Amino acid sequence: MRSMAVLEYIRLTPELLQGLPRDSTVFTIVVSPIEVHGQHLPFGTDIYIAEAVRDRVLSALEENRPEVCFVSLPHLYCGSDALPYPGSLSVNATALEGVLTDYCKGLAKQGFKYLVVFDNHGGPRHHLAISSAARRAWRKWRFQLIDPFIDIYRRMIVHDPELLSMTGLRPAECGDDADNHAGTNETSLMMAVCPELVLRDVREVKAAHPPKLSGAAKIVDGLGRLVEALGGKRTGADLRHLAQAIAWTGQDGFLPYMGAPALASKEAGEAMLGAHVKISVRLIEKALSGEDARPVAILEALSLLRRVPE
Ligand SMILES: [Zn+2]
Repeated sequence: MRSMAVLEYIRLTPELLQGLPRDSTVFTIVVSPIEVHGQHLPFGTDIYIAEAVRDRVLSALEENRPEVCFVSLPHLYCGSDALPYPGSLSVNATALEGVLTDYCKGLAKQGFKYLVVFDNHGGPRHHLAISSAARRAWRKWRFQLIDPFIDIYRRMIVHDPELLSMTGLRPAECGDDADNHAGTNETSLMMAVCPELVLRDVREVKAAHPPKLSGAAKIVDGLGRLVEALGGKRTGADLRHLAQAIAWTGQDGFLPYMGAPALASKEAGEAMLGAHVKISVRLIEKALSGEDARPVAILEALSLLRRVPE
């Protein structure tokens, strides 16, 4: 184990900053909306999970890569596509993208190369904003902004066999469309990360299931099937995921969670945390080896959707 703790950016001075190795300093930042997660989890659910993943990832990397310096930036409590429910504080994607691009620019101008985002929020415009900032930072400054959750989220949605085998979880309990928000997966994660913040006896919280598709959701789903049939497998699947989100939040009186909190367990949360850590470490190692490690976001092919206001 290395003895040096993770540095905090806001405690640095120009002299301390000057001493950091440009090629092997990794900056980290938690980026998340403040968002309603049912009645049983707090607004900061994604933040608590992201902090826990970050701490575990840094411990793993400190052992594997003792030459790497880690510097944490203050949390950015900014996230797009927070659940449109009273209590959520959503930030439009253009603003999020602008802040992240400018942070990358500021770090790149000092000669640094890496900023890793820790995140547990699956909003489509949220991921598109982050990946657009990452694309620009890579193109302009060869700077890598990496959000491993973009990769993990896609794996949850498409039932990626590797993720399911890593966690031992099945569809409808792995954070997919049927378990998308504050359901089994996120409640399990909170049981593992900070059980004192699971605020109700979740066995008494009834399950919320995806609604039947109608209206705009049905049209988007149909478009997704068409794109799939024309060979655009990934974008088609992404559109069908979007259709599910539209159907859920478009219902009158929708519940602020999706899935079955009653089926959550600390063990499932630990298993999912382990997968987050493994996938994140792998991506960061890839970036450190000089390869482009930026994951592809859901709806990346339709990236302009991030400009549609919330
Ligand atoms: Zn969440």
